[in-house]
Amino acid sequence: MIHRDATLIATGHRIKHLWYIDSVSCMSDEACAKLKVTLPLWHQRLGHVNEKRLKTAIKKRLIVGVDVDKHDTDVAIPFCEACVQSKQTHKPFTGSADVQSKEILQLIHSDVCGPMSVGSLGGARYFVTFTDDYSRFSYVYFLKHKSEVFEKFKEFHAEVTNFTDNRIKTLRTDNGGEYTSFAFEQYLKMNGIRHEVTTPHTPQQNGISERLNRTLQEMAMSQILHAGLPKCFWADSIATACYVRNRLPVCPLNVSPFEKWYARKPSVKYFRVFGCVAYALKPDNERTKMDARSEKLRFIGYPLRAKGYRLYDEKKHRVIVRRDVIFNETVFDTNPVTYPSDVVSVSTPATDDNAAEQSEPQSHDEGDEAQSLPVSQPVRRSERQVRQPDRLGEWIEYIDTDVDFAQTTEYKHRLYFCNVVEPKTIDEAMKMPEAEMWKQASDEEMLAYSTMNT
Ligand SMILES: [Zn+2]
Repeated sequence: MIHRDATLIATGHRIKHLWYIDSVSCMSDEACAKLKVTLPLWHQRLGHVNEKRLKTAIKKRLIVGVDVDKHDTDVAIPFCEACVQSKQTHKPFTGSADVQSKEILQLIHSDVCGPMSVGSLGGARYFVTFTDDYSRFSYVYFLKHKSEVFEKFKEFHAEVTNFTDNRIKTLRTDNGGEYTSFAFEQYLKMNGIRHEVTTPHTPQQNGISERLNRTLQEMAMSQILHAGLPKCFWADSIATACYVRNRLPVCPLNVSPFEKWYARKPSVKYFRVFGCVAYALKPDNERTKMDARSEKLRFIGYPLRAKGYRLYDEKKHRVIVRRDVIFNETVFDTNPVTYPSDVVSVSTPATDDNAAEQSEPQSHDEGDEAQSLPVSQPVRRSERQVRQPDRLGEWIEYIDTDVDFAQTTEYKHRLYFCNVVEPKTIDEAMKMPEAEMWKQASDEEMLAYSTMNT
């Protein structure tokens, strides 16, 4: 039941022709009052951002759309369990964070992180980031194999050079084999891009990537813990973390990467708490007269090319993008999400093909998420997910219906997600508790390379 002002009053279920109100989920009068937007809520919406950074962003008006009472910005954010659990290590960063370039795309930092302890919904095990040194704007892509880094770099290259009209001058990476293949080196040469390789064990040279990877992992972990979602949502959480991080002021710029990149302040008005329960209006052709008007889903991020929200439908094991959504940001569902056996992604058809600006869901700025807007056309399951790469987006994930989720469950309890330590040698890998996983990852890499070469 939804009030005229879009406030959720109660939820219910239907048995034959009768509707039963769920007494447990029926909110009290007090709770029915519109959720007061407080600083702790913004802390959650913005990827569990550190308190000082959040307050700076609000007070200095570096982000648009944060509607908290003025005196609210002076109070301390209460204890947040998700933050404490995800930020266990407080080792200081040894790497330099200084800006070493004079214009956008002069220097790009890149690093690969993984393999993750579990596969993502789309079967990814790694993520790669490309960060522009000047603006600190980051792109993240998800990979099944490290060998896909080259493809992702080509996509990134095409997109950013098209968007900015600048050329990438230098790519700085560690000495990872994924960057030093013959094909990759040739591509860089042909495009006049200098490949700068940092010396092993000198993190001061690789400070930007090191810092970013840790930030993204911590933010993602906080979001997942707070929402009580299984770890297979790590890619969605990392993507959301990257999306959020681009919009928050970063050291040493003191503005957001978004502002440096797009030359305007980012709006965060439409941001919601990752993983919370979301009610999406069903498209007319998906419901009969007696059906509920909305379906109960979980909010798992922001699509880049379409306007709306990415939502996970547990019943049908699919990811959909919808614009008409009502959120309950304090509820993360009493039934934990189970491991899906099959995932189908349905995304709003791409509207236009120009300007990266369109990857920003600007419609949200007008606060229209509760109004009736055209919704995405459903894609029949039989069409099998063929989502084209979000070339204009910050992240891409291919959802594959053939993902083996049984494997995912197997890893659930014995492996970790945060602070992935990548062994340098096979011997080192075999001594780690995750030896079996490393072996499998290495076998997969070998297979991927040999398939590429045949
Ligand atoms: Zn927190």
